[in-house]
Amino acid sequence: MDLLYLSPMNSTRFVLTILWSVSFSPMVTSLSAQSPDLLRRMYRHHEEVREEGLDQRRFKHPEVMARIQALKSDPDFGISTAGYSVQGREIKAVRWGSGPVKVLLWTQMHGDEPTATLSTFDLWNALRDPDFLPEANKWKKQLTLVFLPLLNPDGALVYDRQNALGIDLNRDALRLTSPEARILKHWRDSLSADWGFNLHDQHRYYSAGNTNLTSAIAFLAPPPDEKRSQPPHRQDAMRLIGGLSNGLQKLIPGQVAKYSDAFEPRAFGDNFTKWGTRTILIEAGWLPGDTEKQTLRRLYFATLVAALDGIANQSFNQVPVKAYSDIPFNQNRLTDLLIREVQVQVGKGTYLVDICYKHEESTGPDGRTWRRQPAIAEIGDLSPYGAYTILEGQGEWTLVPAATHPHVMTGMDELRAEPWTDLILSGTAVARMANVTNDQRMANTPLALRHLDDNANEPVYPGMNPTFYLRDQRGNLRYLIVNGIAWDLRSPEWRSALHDLLSGGLD
Ligand SMILES: [Zn+2]
Repeated sequence: MDLLYLSPMNSTRFVLTILWSVSFSPMVTSLSAQSPDLLRRMYRHHEEVREEGLDQRRFKHPEVMARIQALKSDPDFGISTAGYSVQGREIKAVRWGSGPVKVLLWTQMHGDEPTATLSTFDLWNALRDPDFLPEANKWKKQLTLVFLPLLNPDGALVYDRQNALGIDLNRDALRLTSPEARILKHWRDSLSADWGFNLHDQHRYYSAGNTNLTSAIAFLAPPPDEKRSQPPHRQDAMRLIGGLSNGLQKLIPGQVAKYSDAFEPRAFGDNFTKWGTRTILIEAGWLPGDTEKQTLRRLYFATLVAALDGIANQSFNQVPVKAYSDIPFNQNRLTDLLIREVQVQVGKGTYLVDICYKHEESTGPDGRTWRRQPAIAEIGDLSPYGAYTILEGQGEWTLVPAATHPHVMTGMDELRAEPWTDLILSGTAVARMANVTNDQRMANTPLALRHLDDNANEPVYPGMNPTFYLRDQRGNLRYLIVNGIAWDLRSPEWRSALHDLLSGGLD
């Protein structure tokens, strides 16, 4: 998958920047002649062990149980019932290996953070892969792995962070109100886990340090106290993370970060460290274009393999703690669309502002589908922010609200009959329809479809989703913003997207 986005530089004045990410394939080719470290080797090898049939993020408990069930025929894996969720869904413990070092890995304690669960399936396949036999044999003697996959199946059902009680399991480590939290505590204590892997996803607006690059993978060796003390076992976790970060930098340069190390007294990671377990938090962040996080799943898989290998052969001991300290922290500074320095006219005044959009996700009633919910997040001085897409107005653009077509369209035929290319180029980009679904209203098209009863065009204000143009000093309409997506009116993409919309059905 090629994730390299070249910035279309239309002119020196009006620059559309799209956040780039690394293109992996040329790098992998060039490394194949050398002896790549395990992380890169496993990244390259992922396709061979990738668990099939799970290409989207909103999988559920039955898909997970089916994959655990499939391990039962393999004598290397021990499967047991760890307990049950609030709504009675079974949570399994999967054990592999018989070594003295006990490693506990739990995934998806937040129901809407599924990447590590997918990577875990891939890891199990790797453990059974003939190509991986040398590592597997070594691990088997050194490590006992216990997995608690999908610790929050009730949350995953509705793609929510919390469990069915509305409790964030990662704030329940002390009180242990939730059965899922009790399961996790029980396994840590009964194993007396030497290592704990706390596996999560983070939101899409973190950059790695003060850059315009997304934080693709973030780590933390959680602190045991407010002072963020560094007892020797926490330093072990830091060293391991330092080595993983160095390996990842070769695949995703500048896109590895540290998660906030503020002490949270109720969180499992912090308490695991307090209880004496070397704890590794891993967060799958975001890569541009990787909507269902399948490339991140691959990176995450390679990271897990490298981590376990580093523990099995004790190689983390050779990494200085500084390798961890040098990792930049996540910065919460990205947005989806950032328009810098545009003139807005309100009343008789003209004001120079920045505008940014964020696209929240909302899950469909079936729990499987989702759609973007774009809205203006902030207006004003947004100079600290970056974005997936940035438009530089340099004070020379004026925001012009799009006009709404005067007729209410009764159906596709009526919509198609209008000369939309000309209408859009002359300032009309909103159509009202008698019947329009939410998906159609939020679609990625250069024509805003609104319901008969909608406020056809919303005001330019936080929380709103207006349709508007950016007009240059010569009076030309340069960009059209629909549902938080910017269309360059001088490039052909908007015409083909319009064609697709009008030639397709709306049903
Ligand atoms: Zn989480």
